[in-house]
Amino acid sequence: MRVRVPAKVNLHLSVGDLRPDGYHDLVTVFHAVDVFDEVVVSAAPRSSVRTVDGAGGGAVPGVPAGPRNLAGAAARLLAKECGRSGSTGPVAIEIIKNIPVAGGMAGGSADAAAALVGCAALWGLDLTRDQLAEFARRLGADVPFALTGGTAVGTGRGDLLSPVLARTPLHWVLAVAGEGLSTPEVFAELDRLRAAGDPPRVAPVQEILAALPSGDPVRIGAALGNDLQAAAVSLRPELRRTLRAGRAAGAVGSVVSGSGPTCAFLCPGPDAAADVAAELAGSGTCRAVRIASGPAPGARLVGSG
Ligand code: ATP
Repeated sequence: MRVRVPAKVNLHLSVGDLRPDGYHDLVTVFHAVDVFDEVVVSAAPRSSVRTVDGAGGGAVPGVPAGPRNLAGAAARLLAKECGRSGSTGPVAIEIIKNIPVAGGMAGGSADAAAALVGCAALWGLDLTRDQLAEFARRLGADVPFALTGGTAVGTGRGDLLSPVLARTPLHWVLAVAGEGLSTPEVFAELDRLRAAGDPPRVAPVQEILAALPSGDPVRIGAALGNDLQAAAVSLRPELRRTLRAGRAAGAVGSVVSGSGPTCAFLCPGPDAAADVAAELAGSGTCRAVRIASGPAPGARLVGSG
């Protein structure tokens, strides 16, 4: 079973104060973009997970091959919960990776969502979308959105979703950094910045929710915001130059995606995106540049047999 699953950018991310249990309440607007990982799940004598680079076919540094890989964890969870039917069994999982690793684009969560869809199909499990979403929630806060795709508001840990009906295509340029950032370290940096002062907080989510139905990139661009951006920039000051370069090249909005370090630039249209991408690539402020558009669909079976 071959499953295609999208990356996400956060159009809005507001982070509540640190709770006594160590978590933060989040309000976010997820937006799936057409940068896809593919996950191929096959019955095998022993379970395994292998990741290859979608661009070059080589190994992908930073992605665990063993039990810590989230796609393998998804297969194990489904086998444990649905094994009574007797149709489950060991699987070989191959991940063809195009989503930047530790880039704030939820690549690991995407692979977990894809593995759920692939294993459910391989094992002939008759699961509803809601049942799959419940398994997804148990695997991680960003996994349910990778199942649904599109554009959605996430609350709680970001995992309680309600769809946003905003279908006008948005054109993006993504600036991918040479090295990823650890999500827990970025949250810890935000807590530190807040203890030391009061970094500005993003505008209420209503602003982006009001802008999205207009489909107007200038209005949407002005409403992008992320509370984690200050923390990501504090840990990686060179992101300031990346953000500046994208805006100077003609983007109408910019935001660090999730916990970073990927920067997402909203462009007025596909031609402008090509121009911004070319200028950013020449600016020397990031490792790679991708053109993308959204909203993209969630994890979908694209082949079997
Ligand atoms: P998020 O936006 O959800 O915070 P991210 O996009 O910043 O996540 P990921 O690419 O999901 O980061 O990777 C985070 C860490 O998860 C990696 O450093 C890696 O150790 C681990 N990981 C486990 N499984 C996978 C996977 N299938 N693909 C990528 N990373 C994985």
